[in-house]
Amino acid sequence: MKVLVINCGSSSLKYQVLDMTNEVLECKGLVERIGMDGSAITHEKIGMEKFKNIVPMQDHKDAIGHVLDAIQDEDHGVIKDMSEIGAVGHRVVHAGEKYAHSVLIDDTVMAALEDCVELAPLHNPPNLLGIRACQDLMPNTPMVAVFDTAFHQTMPPESYIYAIPYEYYQKYGIRRYGFHGTSHKYVAERAADMLNVNLEDLKLITCHLGNGASVSAIKRGKCLDTSMGFTPLEGLVMGTRSGDIDPAIVTYIREKEGLDQGVANEILNKKSGVLGISGVSSDFRDLEAAAEDGNERALLALKVFAHKVKSYIGAYIAEMNGVDAIIFTAGVGENDIGMRDIICNDMGNLGIKLDLVKNKVRGKEMIISRDDSKVKVLLIPTNEELMIARDTYDIVTKL
Ligand code: ADP
Repeated sequence: MKVLVINCGSSSLKYQVLDMTNEVLECKGLVERIGMDGSAITHEKIGMEKFKNIVPMQDHKDAIGHVLDAIQDEDHGVIKDMSEIGAVGHRVVHAGEKYAHSVLIDDTVMAALEDCVELAPLHNPPNLLGIRACQDLMPNTPMVAVFDTAFHQTMPPESYIYAIPYEYYQKYGIRRYGFHGTSHKYVAERAADMLNVNLEDLKLITCHLGNGASVSAIKRGKCLDTSMGFTPLEGLVMGTRSGDIDPAIVTYIREKEGLDQGVANEILNKKSGVLGISGVSSDFRDLEAAAEDGNERALLALKVFAHKVKSYIGAYIAEMNGVDAIIFTAGVGENDIGMRDIICNDMGNLGIKLDLVKNKVRGKEMIISRDDSKVKVLLIPTNEELMIARDTYDIVTKL
């Protein structure tokens, strides 16, 4: 069976077609600037050159229409007609406390996801638009929703309850939810395979370090704690997000600068993080180049980022009473040799010893700790689309 995976943002959409009989990626692509001037689709059949088509696309239904055309294209397509697509897997950011697993989409699920829009006003609406557009264009194809929050639903209350009046949890669902769950789960499962140990016998710390970044403590295959919270703003320092700060800072700055709530949110989400500290960029490649040229704030941003990751690793080792492996994934985790080095530096007493030669690798599954390191350090490229396709395939084949 072939599965179409859709990851829909507000003005962009990523897609892949995977043949799930052997889990092979057949094509992938990106639609950008949906509903704006210059909307375009970039499509790549694996093994062939990418092509980019600039075509007007008014809305998500238009965009999905072009995706369906591209995957059926005579030269660049991977299917003859839509009957070859057995199911569609949709990435959905927030399922609140409703779903701890991926689900087959029906009217009840759609209503539940509508209820979660309040919790993820930026992310869930475009996810829902994508689902509806696919339902319109493929009314007979089963669809599955795979949630970023689902994997973290195993956290115990002491990990997810905030120390604010309990009634806010009861009334508004204010608690830690965690995000990037599909990625944390994928790399944890890969780590168990690579180490040839049962996932149930492992204590893992998974570091998803991309533009958005989060760390999870995974004990016996279940998420015990994670750094992102009620929203993806909490936790690590990120490209443009502040991560943990003293909440009093928000009210203080708002008062000092006379900022309304929207501007304050924008500052914390879009103008903070390593961009905010450095004033240079949110991209770690730019920061490293600037730091090498002697830019002290760029260097400081890198150090603050590493310090935060290290402190979460320490906290999660304490929470789990040890760790067997630490995993690095996502853009920074997979590619930034220097950052992995700073994070793991000077942790020998905790049994963590990075191999500086093995660490000189990018985007490849590898054990990068020294042979005598009690704790293994692993580099594992994430593959959220494969996880989405797997869950979709599993659910649909059981129908
Ligand atoms: P997201 O999916 O959250 O947008 P990614 O996981 O794709 O982010 O990560 C993107 C980030 O990865 C970039 O902003 C950049 O900081 C970092 N990155 C990518 N390649 C490299 C590299 N070679 N060296 C250092 N950082 C890199």
